[in-house]
Amino acid sequence: MKKLEDLILTYKDFPKKGIDFKDVLEILQHPDIFQDLILKMSSNQILKNAEAIISIDARGFIFGSAVALESSKPMIVARKPGKLPGHLLSRNYDLEYGKNSLSIQSKALKKFHTFVIVDDLLATGGTVDCVSKLLQEQRKEISGLLTVVELIGLKGRSKFNFPVKSIISI
Ligand code: AMP
Repeated sequence: MKKLEDLILTYKDFPKKGIDFKDVLEILQHPDIFQDLILKMSSNQILKNAEAIISIDARGFIFGSAVALESSKPMIVARKPGKLPGHLLSRNYDLEYGKNSLSIQSKALKKFHTFVIVDDLLATGGTVDCVSKLLQEQRKEISGLLTVVELIGLKGRSKFNFPVKSIISI
């Protein structure tokens, strides 16, 4: 019987030399394990303390929307440049392997006050830090971060003043 841990595949030197890329997509080929993961994420107190979910482009959407359905919480998204219409709040950040920028639709953000951030993987924490700063600039509360995988050696969670729950630490 396969376990969740067996479905996190490592690709060496992707997308750049020196990066061990952890691919979570194989989880989706095992609905029983995927469902168990979503139940674990959805039963966490961090989620219960949030009014809404904010999930991060792109793999965060997969887990965020499943958690949103399971928990009956609304979800909004943080997206990479050029993807969202309307008035946006945007911010640049550093990634483990480059630079990027994330945007949130201000109309969607206005509707809720306390957010749980959902993503597939926590590495250096730059991505989540970007989303948390976008939220905090708008005086929003963050109940915490829910993530499938955490690369503990990179100490991403030390950047945050909110709780972090990762299902697998590597
Ligand atoms: P970071 O901002 O460094 O915490 O990076 C987290 C984001 O980048 C997540 O949205 C991941 O999808 C992606 N990412 C960063 N490093 C890796 C990695 N080693 N393997 C897979 N995804 C990664």
